[in-house]
Amino acid sequence: MNELFEIIGKMPPWFWLVWFFMVGSFVGSFLNVVVYRLPRNCLSINKPKRSFCPSCKTQLKWKDNLPIIGWLLLRGKCRYCGTKYGIRYPAVELLTAVLFCFAAWRVLYADGNLSGEWAAWLTLLHILAIIGVLLPWALIDLDLTYIPDKLTLGPLLAFVPFAAHADALQFGLTRSAQSFDLTDVSAAVPANQQYTHLWFNFSPVWLNSMISAVLTGLAASLALWLIGKAANVIFARRVREMGGEAMGGADVKLMVLLGVMLGWPKLLAAFFVAIFVGAAIGTVQLLLKKGHGTPFGPYLTLGALVAALGSSWIAALYRWYMDFLQGAA
Ligand SMILES: [Zn+2]
Repeated sequence: MNELFEIIGKMPPWFWLVWFFMVGSFVGSFLNVVVYRLPRNCLSINKPKRSFCPSCKTQLKWKDNLPIIGWLLLRGKCRYCGTKYGIRYPAVELLTAVLFCFAAWRVLYADGNLSGEWAAWLTLLHILAIIGVLLPWALIDLDLTYIPDKLTLGPLLAFVPFAAHADALQFGLTRSAQSFDLTDVSAAVPANQQYTHLWFNFSPVWLNSMISAVLTGLAASLALWLIGKAANVIFARRVREMGGEAMGGADVKLMVLLGVMLGWPKLLAAFFVAIFVGAAIGTVQLLLKKGHGTPFGPYLTLGALVAALGSSWIAALYRWYMDFLQGAA
């Protein structure tokens, strides 16, 4: 096993970056299928196996199906009926490819070459899974402003055991935290205390990590649910006008999933980003008098992706927040 990773580690970085770009484009192609078929209950993800034109229902040839390239070859039109496909199909493929490639660089090479360590690959797999789950989430939420439970509860079953890999939740926090001595990560500190994101300090670390992640999810969803209830009371008139609730039930379920995916420091970071970007775009929409009530899901997704790909600024934000809390106490 170690020999295998030794060989993997000796591969040049560009090889893996190109490889992940290509894998990402195919995953993006699959995500397009998920986004189109999942909310349409009469269609299953794997039946029919081949993709078909949504307009004339003709099955597509394999080469028309190639991510990004297929769309370019046909100039975005169906070969059979000439219906124009939106730019969104290749855009999602390209976005997924770029995110996969960036994630690989971030995890394997940004903090020194870690491509020979299996734990780094497990962390990368964790982040790729987050991208693969959250992108369809955001797109379906944008399309329909509702989320099928399959997309929350299904991934939850996978991410709860995945949270046992504490490195993934810690990714992007320790290394940068070291530089301003947030925690002294040295050999003298027991392994389970090196983890600043956990709620407790008990062994084994993997169980500690899993329980902490689940608690984060539950606490976050409870908090969001309470905020939603409060908003319903405070903005009662506005909520009645819009017809519905300030926070959808889907957002509350998403919080459970995000908490388990990210752990609490990165969940907080994701939430900050979501509120900041959401408020900025919401203000522009209000000024232009365009659009109303964009769902919160896509903003949360954006925040979660930024946080999952963690970098030093998240640690800086975390330190600022902790200082702020200490200052307030
Ligand atoms: Zn067609």
